[in-house]
Formats: sequence, structure tokens, C-alpha cells
Amino acid sequence: MKIKDLKTFQLKVTVKEPFTSSRGWWYDTKEALIVKIVTDEGIDGWGECYGPASIAKAVVDSLFKPQVVGKDPFDVEVIWEHLYNRIKDYGLSGMTISGISGIDIALWDIMGKAVQKPIHKLMGGCFREKVQAYATGLYFKNMDRVTEEAVEEAKGFVDQGFRAVKMKIGLGSLKKDLDRIAAVKAAVGSDVQLMVDANHCYNVPMAIALGRELEQMGIYWFEEPISPEDIEGYVEVSRALDIAIAGGENDSTRFGFRELITRRAMDIIQPDVCAAGGLTECKKIAAMAGAHWIQCIPHAWGSVIGIAATLHFLASLPDCPPCLVPIPPMLEYEQTFNPFRYELSHVSISHRQGIVDVPTGPGLGIEINEKIIEMYRVG
Ligand code: CA
Repeated sequence: MKIKDLKTFQLKVTVKEPFTSSRGWWYDTKEALIVKIVTDEGIDGWGECYGPASIAKAVVDSLFKPQVVGKDPFDVEVIWEHLYNRIKDYGLSGMTISGISGIDIALWDIMGKAVQKPIHKLMGGCFREKVQAYATGLYFKNMDRVTEEAVEEAKGFVDQGFRAVKMKIGLGSLKKDLDRIAAVKAAVGSDVQLMVDANHCYNVPMAIALGRELEQMGIYWFEEPISPEDIEGYVEVSRALDIAIAGGENDSTRFGFRELITRRAMDIIQPDVCAAGGLTECKKIAAMAGAHWIQCIPHAWGSVIGIAATLHFLASLPDCPPCLVPIPPMLEYEQTFNPFRYELSHVSISHRQGIVDVPTGPGLGIEINEKIIEMYRVG
């Protein structure tokens, strides 16, 4: 089998109700960069790149397309190393790796379709057929009622059956954050796990002070307390606190995660399959984490393609640690407005009472509706 062509589709949609996190930029649009790889045997594969779609498109079209056309999709690791070595002198992280990620996912989709097996069967097998999803939401929308709107949204997730919810924090004052977290915690009740995500807005002393309060409140994990470059700071925060520290969504490749893992800078690493190097690389990152008994609970923020790829990755992860009643990794199920999550595929992915089935069809196990792609396409 040979790769005949590679196409990219830049999708964009206006968000009905703009929202922000502690980062401070307002999401008023949602974008996606979708990769389609066409083979000479009539099998197509789909992938997705994280980050600004126009940049991902330029990277994939100009840098990588000429390098993959003519190759055998089953040489997935050979292709990965080849692409990585092409960008090694200027693009060891960021959008270049996002470009490789989208291509890699599409190659796995092709391999699965060629042998009529779901991707996780090619990645070593199925540790779990169902995954517990946690709802990611509770961003800031109306700054005059950030607590009220968070409580309303959280109650909505619990009513839908979610057993775990992650909220955004980072209002510039620990008291404001703590009051809002306490209100949400009271609203969801003690049976629902609540996580908080600061999107790296704190410094080390503030993160430790807040973390001590979060421990008392029974918060399940504290995500991105401080800036991702500050590995020393992560070590300090992780050692000072009992609560699990999560992070790593902005990192990529086994080389990027190596120090985080070997220095035990965090308790939970969160590589994104559409950003950290695709399924090929995320499997290696997870293996390295597992060797240090650090949990891998991937970040996910994409379309149905990214979600399907993440589910196959989750299915392929051993319990960490294995035991009678293990604590399996969860799916990050982002709940902000995003039609690419539920419209792009004829086969939808959805949750029932917060549980999502791992797709069992060939490849990613979804069927892309190209009419919808054309509907949202801007480039
Ligand atoms: Ca996050």
C-alpha cells in the first residue's frame, strides 16, 4: 500500500457564547485542522492537529506532505522518525509536532481499516471497552456571575450523569477561587469527583497555599498550577502537597516528557494525542510514565477525530498500578460549544451516564461526513 495524497481541511465555527480561562484570551471561534491521507488501495485515514489550524495547515502542507506521499502507511514509526528528523533543527515542540500528530493518527486509521481492526487492537489490545469521562467546562463567561454560572453548569453535568467534573480556576485571588470552588463542590455533592485547572496562572507559593485548601476540600487533582517551563517549581509544588498535581498538555514527544517524568515533577501527565506526537509517540510517553508509576490521563480538546484517537489510546493503557479495583484513566470530555465534536462523523461518540464506549469499528471507528467538513471549511 502506498500513500497517494494528503489533504488538509481548516474548519472554523463561531462560538455562540464566548468564554475564557485564566489565560485571559476569549474563545469566540472554534477551529480544527483535519488531515486526510489517501492511499492507492482506496483506504483513507483521518487525523487531527491541535492548535491554530492555519499554522498546522501550513506545517502539514508545506513541510510534511512531500515527505509522506509515496510511503507505506504501515511504516508508521519510520515515517514518524523521518518527519521528526526533518524538523529537528527548528521545531522540537509546538506546531511542528502537532503536524506530525495529525499525520500519525491518520496512518493508524489506515492501518486499522486495512486489517479491519480498531486501532487499540493494533496498539497492544484492549484494557477497557468503556471509559469514564469527566466533563471539562466551567470556564468564565459572564465575569459578574462566574460563581453562579459555574454552579449551574456543574449541576447540568451531574444531571447528565457525569461522575467527574473539571472546572477552570484563576480569578486573580485565592479567596475568589476558593469561594467559587466551594460553591461548585457543594453543588455537585460528595459522590462526584471535582478537579480544578489553573491553566498555569499561579506562582509556587500561591499554588502551594491554594493546594493546601484544595486538599481539605477533597479536590481530586490540581491541574497546571504553575507555568509549564518551571519544572523545578513543579517538583517543589508536588513535594509540598498531598493532592495529585496534573500537567503536561503543553509538552510533546518522549523527549519533552522525559524530565517531567524522571524528576517526578507531577503525579499525572496529560499528553494530547493531537499535539504530543500522535498515537505512536503518546504510547511511548505513557510507557515511560508507567515505568515511574506516574499516571497518564490524556488531555483532549478536539473534534470527534481527536476524541476517537484518545479513546483508542485510553483503551491501550494498562492500569497504573494494576490491582483488584484499579483506578483506570479517564477521558477528558470537553463540553464547550463545538459542533466538530458531534457533527463530523456519521457514527457519533457520546456518553451514557458519563461512560463512553471505546469505538470498535475498523481504524478510528468513526465515519467522517465530508459534507459537514465542506460546510465549516475556511481553508
Ligand atoms: Ca488543562
